[in-house]
Amino acid sequence: MMKKIIITIDGWSSCGKSTLAKQLAKELGYIYIDSGAMYRAITLYFLRHHIDWTNNEEVQKALENISLEFNYNAKSGQSEIFLNGESVEYMIRDLVIAENVSEVATIKIVRDFAVAVQQKMGKKKGIVMDGRDIGTTVFPNAELKIFMTADISVRVERRFKEMFEKNPNITIEEVKNNLEMRDYIDSNREVSPLRKAEDAIVIDNTHISMEQQLKFALNLLEENK
Ligand code: C5P
Repeated sequence: MMKKIIITIDGWSSCGKSTLAKQLAKELGYIYIDSGAMYRAITLYFLRHHIDWTNNEEVQKALENISLEFNYNAKSGQSEIFLNGESVEYMIRDLVIAENVSEVATIKIVRDFAVAVQQKMGKKKGIVMDGRDIGTTVFPNAELKIFMTADISVRVERRFKEMFEKNPNITIEEVKNNLEMRDYIDSNREVSPLRKAEDAIVIDNTHISMEQQLKFALNLLEENK
């Protein structure tokens, strides 16, 4: 059997990172970890408990009461994030979370907390993790790093379709504004901004199919051996 490695997938919001990560994990029998789900679950906790996240002390206390884990749901065939024992996988996809998560993700102690959990999950390798800072900060020594991008119009359309299924009142404008706002905050924050790691390989999936992107990534793995 091939030696287990760490694969990181970073990139802009809604450009197919999780799709590729899930494809690769399935193909290789690896664990898939959605690091964005962690920041979303922390945001959900802060909103529910009315945490003032501009106050570091309050944030620190709140983090002490948060435990995050991923569990496989045999029914959906997907891994789901649990916040203090409750599956919040669906709740964290709401627009209200998307509207606040990037601000929460700028906070250093929030990032330190999430990164520590992520690094622990990667100890045994055999993992595909997607996010914004996985190849740069979480696993700077990962064996394969991918950076994904796609045209904004394609990204908006994809995310709109996804969100419209759950919320028919959502508009294209709202989705577009949210993606642009998150990309801006994510790439301009002080701590671990969204950047392509120097040794990451770029995949632009504006015009390629899901099958083509998987094939491309598997070829990279072959070359990497
Ligand atoms: O990947 P997803 O879109 O679910 O991530 C939600 C948000 O979480 C991002 O817009 C970003 O602000 C934050 N995030 C991050 N670092 C990661 C993953 C996500 O800052 N590694």
